[in-house]
Amino acid sequence: MSGLRIPLGGPDGSGTAHALNLLAPNPSVMTLEGTNTWVIGPGEEALVVDPGPDDPSHLRRIADHLAGRRVRVILLSHGHRDHSGGAERLAGMLGAPVRALDPRHRLGDEGLADGDVLAVGGLELHVVGTPGHSFDSLCFWLPEDRALLTGDTVLGRGTSVIASDGDLADYLRSLDRLRATVEGVGAQALLPGHGPVLTDPIGALDAYIARRRQRLDQIREARGRGAATPREIVEIVYADVDRSLWSAAEMSVRAQLAYLDG
Ligand SMILES: [Zn+2]
Repeated sequence: MSGLRIPLGGPDGSGTAHALNLLAPNPSVMTLEGTNTWVIGPGEEALVVDPGPDDPSHLRRIADHLAGRRVRVILLSHGHRDHSGGAERLAGMLGAPVRALDPRHRLGDEGLADGDVLAVGGLELHVVGTPGHSFDSLCFWLPEDRALLTGDTVLGRGTSVIASDGDLADYLRSLDRLRATVEGVGAQALLPGHGPVLTDPIGALDAYIARRRQRLDQIREARGRGAATPREIVEIVYADVDRSLWSAAEMSVRAQLAYLDG
């Protein structure tokens, strides 16, 4: 792959020949260094994936970066506020529509769904439906760079959670589908919604899938030892995880219990 960019200081400025990360200033335990806004485009035309939160300084930086270029569209990997919150304001600044799977997050007439192909300045971007982290999660395949934008379905570090609007069975299917996709097309980079670029897509997906299976086994085992509530299961399965992450872990355990009992 030509033009892989991996700066030493963190995800800001990382990417591939035609995908550049502008990191939003919203770091937290859930968002890692912050939300990765991706600018895709080879020249005078561009599109934006995930404006990030409604942070005027971040949105101004995106608009300044795109000055003089025609921005065709703003895409959302999903509707969570740390990805979509700035969409309306950025759309106003750039004069571009917003396309998303969830109609509530669109600005303009066009939706966005699995199988759609967008064109920008001679490049293609293919939409891959990957429900699970949230019901409306999408990934985007950029064949020119052999790169897959993964939103919150695969993060650059740690693991993704199943949010309250997500579903673990869907998520496991989506991971299997992405695993087959990246192998089939020969993807060489994953560009996540949070954290650094991943340069071993198959290895990253195998680790995600194995980790999910392992957690399900651990939850079955914890229940076998008498843990009943999500909190009791978290105290056993996530004993070695920092307590600041336990509420997220509890959400994840709820999703896994729904899966196991579904
Ligand atoms: Zn999310």
